[in-house]
Amino acid sequence: MTEIIGFIGLGNMGMPMLDQLLKSEKKVSVHDISEDSLAKASELGAVVAGSVSDVAKAANIVITMLPASSHVRSVYFGNSGLIESAQLGTLLIDSSTIDVDTSREIGVAAAKAGHEMIDAPVTGGVMAARVGKLNFIVGGEKTSFERAKPVLNIMGQNLLYAGPQGSGIGVKICNNMSLGISMIAAAETLMLAKRLGLDLKRTYEIISSASGQNWALNNYCPLPGFIDGVPSNSGYKPGFSAEMMRKDLRLSQNAALSVDACTPLSAHALSIYSHFCDSGDSQTDYSGISKLIGGDAWDYPFNPEPVGTSD
Ligand code: NAD
Repeated sequence: MTEIIGFIGLGNMGMPMLDQLLKSEKKVSVHDISEDSLAKASELGAVVAGSVSDVAKAANIVITMLPASSHVRSVYFGNSGLIESAQLGTLLIDSSTIDVDTSREIGVAAAKAGHEMIDAPVTGGVMAARVGKLNFIVGGEKTSFERAKPVLNIMGQNLLYAGPQGSGIGVKICNNMSLGISMIAAAETLMLAKRLGLDLKRTYEIISSASGQNWALNNYCPLPGFIDGVPSNSGYKPGFSAEMMRKDLRLSQNAALSVDACTPLSAHALSIYSHFCDSGDSQTDYSGISKLIGGDAWDYPFNPEPVGTSD
């Protein structure tokens, strides 16, 4: 079968993912609510569709890369949404980071309507998306995973099968809970070193190869000048916004509540990112949390957000 690809959601992640597909000679039909994004996608060589249903009519594999559960719900379940308008047998791939229940609900509705559905959230961020080196964590039927592989391989370097539909997003939420905490740990570490008057470059070299290393410190350093191409080098332009990290920590806290899991560090991390977002930095890259931690305003009251807050 000739697979024709549709892509909905052309933001920080979706646009470079689309670019990879186009560079490998795929014909891609796209939609976004942002006219600017559509214009940019058209310049890259995509076919701009007027609506979600126009994408669904043109494609038999549709990828969605949307901000949060509410956007994903409206694209899949809205009037003339994907569930209603996709051609029979379409493979729907949701790469957005959303809650497990919404993902499973879409999976059930897709199967009922005669489609295939996998959740395939990503890790790696914008830099990995630009060079086709994302990691996809996939939940769904193995046959659907096999069908998706040639397309996912263009955008990713690792395709990691997690289990039944909804498992990919479950693993991703656990991953980002760890990432949110690790970024704060990296920022606190470097800021303490700075205030102690240590040679920061030497401190970074030692810790990033010692037992205090973590992915955020080694690959996405929250202070400028240590790693090429990271948001801290360009005024914390995202990248991955603090608002997105707040969303993901809310997802993990809500998931923890639903299964009675104890996640106190994640609760504290959520409080810190929330304070940062509410102070006007919601669209700053999440590594910009070092500005809050390094600043003199490090006296905010720790008020854990009540769990059950929607994303
Ligand atoms: P973004 O906000 O930059 O882009 C989202 C795009 O979706 C925007 O272009 C927006 O206009 C579009 N959109 C919103 N509602 C729409 C609708 N109803 N119909 C069509 N288009 C719509 O977000 P992003 O940073 O690209 O992230 C997308 C997803 O990927 C999120 O779930 C995020 O958590 C996840 N993610 C992001 C990163 C990262 O580094 N940015 C890394 C891993 C995962």
